[in-house]
Amino acid sequence: MAPRKLAAGNWKMNGTLAALDQLDGMAAAAEDASCDVLICPPALLIHPMIARVGAGDLLIGGQDCHAAAQGAHTGDIAAAQLRDAGATHVILGHSERRADHGETDALVRAKAQAAHQAGLVAVICLGETEAQRDAGATLDVIATQLAGSVPDGATAANTVIAYEPVWAIGTGRTPTTDQIAEVHALLRDRLTARLEDGADVALLYGGSVKPTNAAEIFAIAHVNGALVGGASLKAADFVPIITALD
Ligand code: PGA
Repeated sequence: MAPRKLAAGNWKMNGTLAALDQLDGMAAAAEDASCDVLICPPALLIHPMIARVGAGDLLIGGQDCHAAAQGAHTGDIAAAQLRDAGATHVILGHSERRADHGETDALVRAKAQAAHQAGLVAVICLGETEAQRDAGATLDVIATQLAGSVPDGATAANTVIAYEPVWAIGTGRTPTTDQIAEVHALLRDRLTARLEDGADVALLYGGSVKPTNAAEIFAIAHVNGALVGGASLKAADFVPIITALD
């Protein structure tokens, strides 16, 4: 088995019902593509999205879940509730959640465990800040986040890892191909050493992926897809990225 390729869109806190019009083109591209295609909208849009595209090839996911299975956690969403709504994946440990909500590696790991128990694929995000890169600490930071955020029981079927340098998110700046290759090689090495099927875990790159740089990024060793923010909001931007991966 080789890692399954995945073009994933993270809509973050963007989009209302009017944005569902963008889905038709993305769903058509997903039908044609051999890679997986995933959109993770705000949770309120999961149900209407699934109603719009049906049970086709376009996968729908959440952007976060609670570590507990259910209970007194006002404003939070359980993994089983995402699954019940029709989600197949959930993004966990995005740098915006690590920064805005103080999420630690241990919490991300607990959330990933909850996601696995609910039958969701956990898309676990890692990435260094600009200060950490400047200090030469990138590989240490990534190795620590990977070891701390990936739970026991992770497999190629239930886990995807997304490398997203914090300084590349939403900035229009991307690492060099060598910088991406170096981190993805480390991720592959560590996953292969730790998990029985670690060689098959899909590794995504994220941070300012656009139609114009997607093909170059997808040609890098151990890059099996992308986690795309801004360029996943419009079919005109996301479809060419799907095509470049496929
Ligand atoms: P961006 O965001 O593509 O807008 O840089 C990526 C992400 O945060 O997942």
